[in-house]
Amino acid sequence: MPYQAEYIWVDGSKPTAKLRSKTRVYQDDEDLGLWGFDGSSTNQAPGDQSDVVLRPVHVINDPLKPDTNGGRNVLVMCETLLPDLSPHPSNTRAACAAAAEKYSSFDMWFGIEQEYTFFEGIKPLGWPDNGFPAPQGGYYCGVGSDEIFGRPIVNEHMQALIDAGILIGGINAEVMPSQWEFQVGPMVAPQVADELWLSRWLLYRIAEDHEGPSGIKNISATLNPKPMEGDWNGAGAHTNFSTNEMRESYEACIAAAEALKVNHDLHIENYGHGIERRLTGHHETASYKQFSYGASDRGASVRIPWQVEKEGRGYIEDRRPNANCDPYVVTGLILETVCGSAG
Ligand code: ADP
Ligand code: MN
Ligand code: MN
Ligand code: MN
Repeated sequence: MPYQAEYIWVDGSKPTAKLRSKTRVYQDDEDLGLWGFDGSSTNQAPGDQSDVVLRPVHVINDPLKPDTNGGRNVLVMCETLLPDLSPHPSNTRAACAAAAEKYSSFDMWFGIEQEYTFFEGIKPLGWPDNGFPAPQGGYYCGVGSDEIFGRPIVNEHMQALIDAGILIGGINAEVMPSQWEFQVGPMVAPQVADELWLSRWLLYRIAEDHEGPSGIKNISATLNPKPMEGDWNGAGAHTNFSTNEMRESYEACIAAAEALKVNHDLHIENYGHGIERRLTGHHETASYKQFSYGASDRGASVRIPWQVEKEGRGYIEDRRPNANCDPYVVTGLILETVCGSAG
């Protein structure tokens, strides 16, 4: 029986890369292999040398097509290669994988909190056509149709991730109405980033099938880090991490925060386009201009969770990455900065 493989990859769009995918039908006796695409249509190649190669790196069951083709349909996260099979310049996974390999003795785990916002057409889902909803305050972890917009999509997405075997930790409604979060991990890199990219793809794909108050299927999910100007929270991708030492010692947690301080500007430059619009020093953020860390402090660049302070071991939360960050870049940089500084 033939089966479907959805090949998914990160393109070369600037300043923020996009996900692309296309479907390949394999015959019963065929296994997943290398594939390719037209890089001149994805900002990844000139037209006269347009071939870019796709190499599968992370395969999951397709949770949206479980009942056809003998249950063999899959989603295939790919990295992009040049025709000589070296990493394509837009392939950020290769450097991340190299850093993870180099520092494998640290056994660094990552848990990423992906925030995002639903839009219906040009406005956030459920917002009035004219004016604004009530000010922020009641929406975070709220309940009720006056506070919650998009729950059916959120629940379908969460179940799809569970069905696919992605290590999702949970979901919650966020501070701005129609803003949500899901968490992936804790897991090593680059796999945590593979699963986050696949989770993003499933979010966009599932939202396609839903309709909002207008009765039209035009709901999209956006990772825009500051979708609404004004007194509305932005969207981040808090990145929690621990090394084997941090999981045993508070001093190692502090040392990791101190290491991040030294490289602050480099991290800010690589944590997602438009980070200055989000890290203003307001709306539960620290200004991008200055690094700070503290226990339980949601106004700091890096937060030490209360239970970590209490138990004297665990992990820390880098609150700086934007929702639209590239998790290969973020986790690779944390590996280099934190493990590279350890004696
Ligand atoms: P909050 O919203 O309070 O910042 P969440 O519960 O949304 O926290 O997210 C906590 C994150 O921390 C999860 O993504 C989880 O995977 C991650 N995490 C928990 N323990 C560890 C650990 N030892 N190392 C790395 N990440 C961890
Ligand atoms: Mn969270
Ligand atoms: Mn959050
Ligand atoms: Mn957080």
